[in-house]
Amino acid sequence: MTTYPPKITFGELRASGVRDVLVYCRDHKCGHHIAISADRWPDHIRLSDIEPDFVCTACGAEVRPKFSRARMGTG
Ligand SMILES: [Zn+2]
Repeated sequence: MTTYPPKITFGELRASGVRDVLVYCRDHKCGHHIAISADRWPDHIRLSDIEPDFVCTACGAEVRPKFSRARMGTG
């Protein structure tokens, strides 16, 4: 599983061939994660910029700033 540093931008993410990202819940006991298309954010936005926009829909905790490829083996 690949995790990207929060300072990476969505433009850089897309340039690496990633179209979808996984966002993980901060709570290990919850472990909820969602896959989101990266296409919704413009190229200059950093992953860290969108962290405040996410709250876990399962437990209500802030999400962990952890983004991964939603699909494996395509790159
Ligand atoms: Zn959660």
